[in-house]
Amino acid sequence: TPTETTDILIIGAGPAGAVAAGLLRKQGRRVLVVEREQFPRFSIGESLLPQSMAYIEAAGMLQAVVEAGFQYKNGAAFARNGQYTDFDFRDKFSPGWGSTYQVQRATFDKVLADAAERAGAEIRYRHEVVEADVSGDKPRVTVKDTEGRIHVIEANFLLDASGFGRILPRLLKLERPSDFPVRGAIFTHVEDRIPPGGTFDRQKIRVTVHPKFPDVWFWTIPFSDGRCSLGVVAHNEFLAKYPGNETERLKAIVAEDPELSALLGDAVWDTPARTIVGYASNVTSLWGNRFALLGNAGEFLDPVFSSGVTIAFKSASLATDCLAREAAGVEVDWQRDYALPLKAGVDCFRAYVEAWYAGEFQKIIFHKDSSPEVHRMISSILAGYAWDTKNPFVAEPKRRLAVLAELCS
Ligand code: FAD
Repeated sequence: TPTETTDILIIGAGPAGAVAAGLLRKQGRRVLVVEREQFPRFSIGESLLPQSMAYIEAAGMLQAVVEAGFQYKNGAAFARNGQYTDFDFRDKFSPGWGSTYQVQRATFDKVLADAAERAGAEIRYRHEVVEADVSGDKPRVTVKDTEGRIHVIEANFLLDASGFGRILPRLLKLERPSDFPVRGAIFTHVEDRIPPGGTFDRQKIRVTVHPKFPDVWFWTIPFSDGRCSLGVVAHNEFLAKYPGNETERLKAIVAEDPELSALLGDAVWDTPARTIVGYASNVTSLWGNRFALLGNAGEFLDPVFSSGVTIAFKSASLATDCLAREAAGVEVDWQRDYALPLKAGVDCFRAYVEAWYAGEFQKIIFHKDSSPEVHRMISSILAGYAWDTKNPFVAEPKRRLAVLAELCS
């Protein structure tokens, strides 16, 4: 089979792959991206965090994102049994962006990928990676195109940004089960017809806790066109109890929350719901011989804090920084310079996800007299600033959460 060569080969043109491509083009690197699908294509993960804006900006994609007309987002709201609390991300401990967007991912991912292409990256759509060999000096990847033709591409470095495809973890046997119990989600888009006024703030994601089961929660993520993403997250046994098609199941679970049902009372359910189960995943290593795993191809925790795309961008930023240093002749230790700094923030989010499902975090946010200072520190984390160790709630998340939950009891 003929072998083609490139400098950096990226698998997947989702958020991690596209931003990595943009950052590498800024370094003047030759970049080839192979993407299994044709864009635009549906993807889940629609609520961004303000921290992600810094990476969009660094990749040279900010103007394209702003001009796409997505729903402006400035915070997160939480509702439970008639209680309501919210965080405005502009009022937060860490410096940096305090607002972002709620995006239809089909459009958003295309905007980023097109921007990467304009910056000079080559993207081959409907090209699927089917094999990878990282045993030699240079990684070699086998790609199948739509006609079933096989191409072998050799690169100086390989970035796996295949997301839930998890192609290198699967091919290289790097998969490790997540520590989280198996949860799933059922979700759709509706024309929401939620009347203005009331407590529904279109500029915030709203997380509704199930009135009876505190580990079951709903998201509503309004878009700029009068539509809304709606989903429920629960452990598998809970979801398995609901019969029917996905739309019927989602409707039945939404009906269990009176407030959410009232909000969506006039909604037009015009899109068949879908489901995804067992999305949490982990790997034994985030890098290897001339390759690194970005975004969801590495680890995915849980959707509750909307951290997925931010982590994907952070990984692209750290990995492309390492590649820049290597090119400048500086020795790079991928564990020290890539895996550990990435994990620091991921582990911070992990502490909050664990505290969410253990009930501690809910106790804290629904507590009436939280101090403004603590509120701003938590606002920072919800805004995605999980790498800012100046924030005491980043530096010592577990201890701080435990102490605070105790105080709120
Ligand atoms: P992806 O977005 O999955 O992109 C990977 C790309 O690689 C795809 O385009 C795919 O077609 C391509 N690909 C796969 N296999 C191959 C192959 N073999 N060859 C070539 N190409 C391939 N995140 C948020 O930030 N906010 C949210 O509100 C949010 N909500 C979520 C809700 C749920 C229920 C779930 C499960 C996740 C949610 N996430 C959210 C997480 C978010 O979906 C992901 O973290 C994010 O999409 C990861 O981006 P990525 O670039 O790593 O991968």
